[in-house]
Amino acid sequence: MIHLSTAISSQRDFADGPLSGSRKTLNAAAPRVLVVEDEASLALLLSYNLEAEGYQVERAERGDEAELKLAENPPDLVILDWMLPGVSGLEICRRLRAREATKTLPVIMLTARGDEGERVRGLSVGADDYVVKPFSVPELMARVRALLRRSKPERVASRLAAGDLDLNRETHRVVRNGRDIHLGPTEFRLIEFLMERPGRVFSRAQLLDGVWGMSAEIDERTVDVHVGRLRKALSRGRERDPIRTVRGAGYAFDETFGKS
Ligand code: CA
Repeated sequence: MIHLSTAISSQRDFADGPLSGSRKTLNAAAPRVLVVEDEASLALLLSYNLEAEGYQVERAERGDEAELKLAENPPDLVILDWMLPGVSGLEICRRLRAREATKTLPVIMLTARGDEGERVRGLSVGADDYVVKPFSVPELMARVRALLRRSKPERVASRLAAGDLDLNRETHRVVRNGRDIHLGPTEFRLIEFLMERPGRVFSRAQLLDGVWGMSAEIDERTVDVHVGRLRKALSRGRERDPIRTVRGAGYAFDETFGKS
């Protein structure tokens, strides 16, 4: 458990990484991780490493601030420090488990205390994992991946499939009925985004946020143009269109596609 070198090199990378403007587009298809940690340098280190692994990261420094974020829009996983101003991590975890919407939300507790009694207490309020500071960043990243794989296999699966349509995230190939579908990068992200949440209707603004990135300042009609291109590429002849247009609302991946 050596962590100084990891911390130093990561912070240096951070200084010439995201701040230099080369920040990659946020993809709402990536799992969202909430880091609740009042120690600023540790919160920064964790965010940097999580972002480098492709997660979307949100941060809270206080327990009460974290509770607000968790109630508004629960993430896919929480890294929760035990000792926090406002409300303690232990109490937050207990409350998360008591609420239907967050009962199974993966929680990794961080603590400076290492004795067995505290560990048992942490796990008894329902934390999925318990990590003692100082910890190894790569080790924590491995635990994040393992927990997400368990709770949301579809978010980390390398393939998404529906009916005769098959999308491979690793090779960025989309195949329909055995033929390769050639898609531009935006169309690829768009179909990936929709296939991850079959049936759910997304407004044009939500698609812009999720596919183009938070800071995109693009006209909403752009979404229609790309959906049009995507449809044209996906369906040939009388093949069924996997994308539904929902009037006045937006677009969805048809959840009955390949099932009827
Ligand atoms: Ca703390």
